[in-house]
Amino acid sequence: MPPMLRSTTNFAPMAANPSRSDRLSLMAIHAHPDDEASKGAGTVARYSHEGVHTVLVTCTGGEAGDILNPAVDTDEVRERLADVRMEELLRAVEIIGYDVLHLLGYHDSGMPDTEHNQRNDNFANADNDEVVGKLVELIRLEKPQVILTYDDSRFYPHPDHLKVHEVSVPAFDAAGDPDAYPDAGEPWQPAKLYYTGFSKRRVMAMHEAFERLGVDSPFKERIVDISELHDDFTTLIDIRDHIDVRRDALLAHATQIDPESHWMSLSEEVMREVIPWGGVRPGAQPRRHRRNR
Ligand SMILES: [Zn+2]
Repeated sequence: MPPMLRSTTNFAPMAANPSRSDRLSLMAIHAHPDDEASKGAGTVARYSHEGVHTVLVTCTGGEAGDILNPAVDTDEVRERLADVRMEELLRAVEIIGYDVLHLLGYHDSGMPDTEHNQRNDNFANADNDEVVGKLVELIRLEKPQVILTYDDSRFYPHPDHLKVHEVSVPAFDAAGDPDAYPDAGEPWQPAKLYYTGFSKRRVMAMHEAFERLGVDSPFKERIVDISELHDDFTTLIDIRDHIDVRRDALLAHATQIDPESHWMSLSEEVMREVIPWGGVRPGAQPRRHRRNR
């Protein structure tokens, strides 16, 4: 059965879904539009399909991204790239089945030594306490039992991805602390913080599938390093019924994903066979908070 798709009219940034009080809640924190499609899309689709209230927090607008699909690399798209990326994000959010999208509104920080990276309004340069405060407010509003975020892996050292980790961990802790951010709502301590993202097991499975099909593996250059990494994903979530969601959500990001690229050359059938799971590993543990008097 396909995942339940929700209409865009249900997206209500900064307002909780009124029916959510009796539902379990899952929050995913991502850096850019398209990260929600490439990381954890199948997992979120499954929980959404099972009736869990699913919340996406996207920290930046992805304004520093290049257009990676020649088919849509036109003057018109280039001129309104920020708007186009937001439209793509809304489509992907609908495909995955997120109930709510919260935009933190920071500018994409780009890679080090770029113009974007120098901007005062970018995510990487934002004050950590300020960002943590915003996340705390959203956690207390949405009351997630589980938060999905990034680890501190240098495998993809984009400043915005590292920042997501840097602010998510303290926000997970502060949300339940009555002394922290007292103006940001009633304390709420999520039970679990999980890291998504890089998985050696996933990369190796995809690499072998590329080789088997005789397609140039995008991992070829780094596969020896990758094969030596420790794999610490502890929890595999069965997403075989939601494989199409990840693919469709990625393709919704037309400026970022070239449908002809070798990344997209593994069919749904192959993906269902080689990686019918989403992987996560536990991050920080919840602390017991006592009010400081
Ligand atoms: Zn990203």
